[in-house]
Amino acid sequence: MANDQDRMERIVSLAKRRGFIFPSSEIYGGINGFWDYGPLGVELKRNIKDAWWRDLVTNRDDIVGLDAAIIMNPKVWEASGHVGGFTDPMVDCKACNSRFRGDQVTVLALHFIPRGGPKGRASEDCYFSAVGSEDDVRAKHRKRIEKLQRSHPDQPGGWNPKHEVHALSWIRNPEAYAKVHCPDCDQVGTLTSPRAFNLMFETYAGAMQDSSSKVYLRPETAQGIFANYKNVLDTTRLKIPFGIAQIGKAFRNEINPRNYTFRSREFEMMEIEFFCRQSEADKWYEYWRDARFQWYVGLGLKGERLRLRDHKPDELAHYAKACADIEYAFPFGTSELEGIANRTDFDLTRHQEASGRDMTYFDDETKERFIPYVIEPSGGVDRAALAFLAEAYDEDEAPDEKGKMRKRTVLRLHPRLAPIKVAVFPLVRKDGMPEKARAIWAACREHIATFYDEKGAVGRRYRRQDEAGTPFCVTVDGQTNEDGTVTIRDRDTMKQERIAAEAVLSYVRDHLHL
Ligand SMILES: [Zn+2]
Repeated sequence: MANDQDRMERIVSLAKRRGFIFPSSEIYGGINGFWDYGPLGVELKRNIKDAWWRDLVTNRDDIVGLDAAIIMNPKVWEASGHVGGFTDPMVDCKACNSRFRGDQVTVLALHFIPRGGPKGRASEDCYFSAVGSEDDVRAKHRKRIEKLQRSHPDQPGGWNPKHEVHALSWIRNPEAYAKVHCPDCDQVGTLTSPRAFNLMFETYAGAMQDSSSKVYLRPETAQGIFANYKNVLDTTRLKIPFGIAQIGKAFRNEINPRNYTFRSREFEMMEIEFFCRQSEADKWYEYWRDARFQWYVGLGLKGERLRLRDHKPDELAHYAKACADIEYAFPFGTSELEGIANRTDFDLTRHQEASGRDMTYFDDETKERFIPYVIEPSGGVDRAALAFLAEAYDEDEAPDEKGKMRKRTVLRLHPRLAPIKVAVFPLVRKDGMPEKARAIWAACREHIATFYDEKGAVGRRYRRQDEAGTPFCVTVDGQTNEDGTVTIRDRDTMKQERIAAEAVLSYVRDHLHL
């Protein structure tokens, strides 16, 4: 298929055209970093959340659910470290007013040694930059770099290939910093030095708008779980190890929302805080890391596009002892779908200190009292939805009504995730076919998501369902009147077979393994 950028554009276009994802408040020109889910998108997202909840809460006896408020007492965010430390380095361009996250701007420093000897100091330094990787910088400034290489031929005395790569926020030397090209307008020396920018959205609770009424939209769902850990422990009979699961919205005022729905300012998370003994934390960390990876594989993310990456020690957050990312190779690059972290006893200890409440667990068998360790699998619902869409998107060829081969767009979604499981059509709107098709629709829709469509040529109706990811289409035709059978068409193979009209529901259930 087409290259990655082209593929991404086709996915975005399909998502818009078929009602999966719309830009938020589009009639007013949209708002950067916010997205809405349309009729098919909301079903896809609901199916992802339902699969997660069923697999991790309903089908287990050691995890319970929670739904905490988005706005919490601001002391929660002081204790968790978010008020002081939840920041990104922000850089502005004084010329074009563009704003960048300093750690997302790659700067390529090229040093040129004067002709006449390798011992001389670099006479000329050039700092090219782009938002993205080193390859992005090289691609953007390819012509200039080539020109510089031509004007400094031959070693020694020519271009020194020992270039350096920095992130904008890591350049400490003001002289070097002043030579960086703005990634947007390309001017030199127009960037401000990085400033810490807190990512939490602020608002006010109550009529007074002053510091005493300032509250935050939660930047993660985890703290709602930690704050309720004792309530859950006291109202259930859970014994360690056990987990608390939550799905909900979180908000981060990202400096640079980008890559479609991947990095947005309002998003939904699926998180578990799994409480265990310190001595068993490593074991549970490995368990969750592997279990979560397999969950995505089981729902259709397979092959080389999915990978598990362990963080290096210098990448770890201050509270984490170990962390791994489940990453997916999106058309725009490989990025994190879910993180699994060993958060140690950091959060509960902080909340015990800040609130004065006892956060210990008492083991009545061993008579020990301790603050549990926490393993956290934390995934993004929107990121998962985007990965499933990207994985499912495919183009092949199918015969049209006249038997001519034409391009077909198809979403090969896992049946558990497909917004519609079966679509029912009358071949034509006469001879009692619509009545029979509606009867099948009525029998199925109580149990599975079923769609009825009688408009237009049946070939076009098939194609619309292929684009929606519907695994099966059932058609009532002339033969149905004679022997009570209908055709059932498979989305992926496009093969059709005849089955009894009464058998549609059981056939779909058997074949979808729902
Ligand atoms: Zn600029």
